[in-house]
Amino acid sequence: MADDAPTLPPDTFATRLATLRARIDAACVRHGRNPADVALLPVSKTFGPDLIREATRLGLKRFGENKVQEIRDKAEPLADCGIDWVVIGHLQTNKARDVARLAAEVQSLDRLELAQALDRRLQQEGRALDVLLQVKTSDEETKSGLAPADAPALLRELARLDTLRVRGLMTLAVNSDDEAAVRTCFASLRTLRDQLRQDAPAGITLDRLSMGMSGDFELAIAEGSTEVRIGSALFGARSYA
Ligand SMILES: *Cc1c(COP(=O)(O)O)cnc(C)c1O
Repeated sequence: MADDAPTLPPDTFATRLATLRARIDAACVRHGRNPADVALLPVSKTFGPDLIREATRLGLKRFGENKVQEIRDKAEPLADCGIDWVVIGHLQTNKARDVARLAAEVQSLDRLELAQALDRRLQQEGRALDVLLQVKTSDEETKSGLAPADAPALLRELARLDTLRVRGLMTLAVNSDDEAAVRTCFASLRTLRDQLRQDAPAGITLDRLSMGMSGDFELAIAEGSTEVRIGSALFGARSYA
């Protein structure tokens, strides 16, 4: 390489965040959305406290994790950062106690049994949680979430639990290069939200649609996402060593 080769800006976390936010904003403009209406949820799973601390210095405060154990491990060293931990992964009922103690929000609520376990533990803690219902919008066996047809009944039950504030819906699209198939998943979540709103229990407004990840967030924004959950495009590739 020549000595006078131009140097690229360092690939720091700050530059990745700025690039990502610019891509989110550009997608909003392309699809007639207000950039202020699409939030970024950084997904910090597998990344350690040092990088998360750096992210908090840039103004990020909510972080998504898919394992409660990781929240347990990170909450203590980062206790001074005022982080709101958001659970985005499949939750076993026996984790309800830790979630009630440590999480600010659960986006992967998919069944009444889990809601009841959370409610019991939250009452003991004297706390409340924001929740999103995770809905299955693809046929992939590996994806969890409740069937769209089961959403109205679960919503009615949740309206009776004071500790859970239902804010909206969350989904993962099919993992595919077929953009139309991915968009169909996102569109079906929005359609379901619109249907549920028509006879939602009093006080439940379902304003939020959490959809879109590093590989598909632009399509999700086109379909009405209010929150994109971004891991690798922000923190880099994950290693599960
Ligand atoms: C890991 C994860 C993400 C982020 O995935 P990336 O492709 O790294 O952006 C989003 N949502 C859920 C539920 C996840 O588990």
